[in-house]
Amino acid sequence: MTNWFATRRLEPGIFLVSEPVHVNSFLVDGDSWAALIDTGLGIADIRQVAEDLASHDVFALNTHYHFDHSGGNYQFGTRLIHEAGAAAIERPVDQEVYRRYARFITELTDTLPRFRDLDEKYFHFLSDETTPRRLPDGFDPAAWSYQPTTATRTLRDGDKVDLGGRELTVLHTPGHTPDCICLLDEKNGVLFGGDTINTGPIYAQLGDSDVAAFARSTRRLADLAGSVRVVYVPHFVRYAVDPGFLTEVADGFERVVSGEAELHPAADYLGYPVREAGFARFSIFVAAPGEAPGL
Ligand SMILES: [Zn+2]
Repeated sequence: MTNWFATRRLEPGIFLVSEPVHVNSFLVDGDSWAALIDTGLGIADIRQVAEDLASHDVFALNTHYHFDHSGGNYQFGTRLIHEAGAAAIERPVDQEVYRRYARFITELTDTLPRFRDLDEKYFHFLSDETTPRRLPDGFDPAAWSYQPTTATRTLRDGDKVDLGGRELTVLHTPGHTPDCICLLDEKNGVLFGGDTINTGPIYAQLGDSDVAAFARSTRRLADLAGSVRVVYVPHFVRYAVDPGFLTEVADGFERVVSGEAELHPAADYLGYPVREAGFARFSIFVAAPGEAPGL
């Protein structure tokens, strides 16, 4: 049976815990505590995986409320989220989202053999942590649903999450959702981008997205680029990017806000219509006219 998760030690005290192609969670291990930045889809036991890697007790630290970042929260006794997302994790999620997401997982694994054949022949791009898995044996997608939890601590901009010998600073970066945060490990030059920074489509089209706020948040991150060594990101197969990417994303958002960017029709991974602005290493989704799909 293939493990649903892929893990990799990225640098001292930081591990990738990936549900490959779906969501990347990051385990940050301090001298006293370990934080799991996002808890994934809730499909398998992410807590066990995190505890096997960590040398201390692990708590959940959400970058925002979305089901694919807080789906495993229920497995943890301690859960931290920005104050603007605390109410959202207490609510159920529409089953239609899970129905569509399960279809997306099947579509990925059905498409994979052809992609893997080409990859083995020509590209050599796929590795363990970038190869999507089949759903675990015994997992029933029809019974898959969101398990609401409550926050045990709420966060605000500037708060510090102290792990002992390692500190994560909360940067409130609204735009994708109102509660989005990035986490900065200043001493080690590491930024965890949450859904504010991604290397595929960046989602600014959701019901509670705010494109202008997104532009301000990404510019704030770009201003930090000089003091950051690496940015870890939660979606698609590139889980680490260079800090120069922060400036590219901020510039992209400014072009969308100013109307300079060309928008064309596209669809998100759940099949909802969006408009997309394409850039060299990412794209930005904004709402299609008359549509504001929600997760
Ligand atoms: Zn999200």
